Amino acid sequence: MPATVLNPVLDLLFVRGTVTRAEPITSRMRHLRVESDKLAGLQVRPGQQVRVLVAGLTPRTYSVWRYDPFGAVELCVLDHPEGGPGAAWGRSVEVGEQVRLRKPEGTFTLRPEATHHVFVGEETASVAFGAMLDALPEGARISGCVETETAADRLPLRHSNRLDWLTRGDDSLPNGVRRLAPEPGGIAYVAGEARTVQSVRQVLVRELGWDRRSVVTKPFWAPGKKGLE
Ligand SMILES: Cc1cc2nc3c(=O)[nH]c(=O)nc-3n(C[C@H](O)[C@H](O)[C@H](O)COP(=O)(O)OP(=O)(O)OC[C@H]3O[C@@H](n4cnc5c(N)ncnc54)[C@H](O)[C@@H]3O)c2cc1C
Repeated sequence: MPATVLNPVLDLLFVRGTVTRAEPITSRMRHLRVESDKLAGLQVRPGQQVRVLVAGLTPRTYSVWRYDPFGAVELCVLDHPEGGPGAAWGRSVEVGEQVRLRKPEGTFTLRPEATHHVFVGEETASVAFGAMLDALPEGARISGCVETETAADRLPLRHSNRLDWLTRGDDSLPNGVRRLAPEPGGIAYVAGEARTVQSVRQVLVRELGWDRRSVVTKPFWAPGKKGLE
């Protein structure tokens, strides 16, 4: 399709943003800031995500790490070993580049009214957790398990000392949750690799007696599948 036809269509569906920050935040993640006046003044809920056109028309989804109501979203993009257009974009995008993205959306979000909050996931999930944890007050009841490849892959999360940090290979998220044994009655947020999300949900519901409606899940990626959403 010629650009004269395509661009107006894309402009209806996507916002044009400029990358104004691109720097490492963990050993394999880059912290990106994308600014656009069309991103100003939105109602963004902690945990929501944006769709980004990372290579031509290829979309990939990233959680909003921080939202700036003056018109910016901040993302953290993992450079995972299998690579793909999303990982390549995150690794190589530079300050000053233009990018098309949709406004923040999604329902994998903080339930502020919960009596306690349990976070379970790996590196990619910890980006959404970061936004949710930022929104929780000091007195909130917080626990969870976050698995990373190495300690250098841990994002700087607020309340991080209340989470159990696991290293991949030494431990697993389902076992970490069994050990943690969070009491039912709160809300559990479970995200990341699709099969692990299902296993953790089963532990919470079948073994620990959680109501399935209190376990909010979101598969972020799956081995062998491209761009889950
Ligand atoms: C709601 C939502 C929020 C997300 N938030 C984030 C985020 O904040 N940060 C982030 O980095 N990603 C996030 N993701 C995942 C992201 O959308 C892409 O799936 C990811 O960047 C991989 O895209 P890719 O093009 O590099 O690989 P793809 O072309 O999508 O996949 C190629 C292959 O790489 C492997 N692969 C993909 N992801 C991983 C991984 N994490 N670890 C190991 N192997 C992998 C799989 O085997 C896959 O078949 C989110 C996804 C969703 C649905």
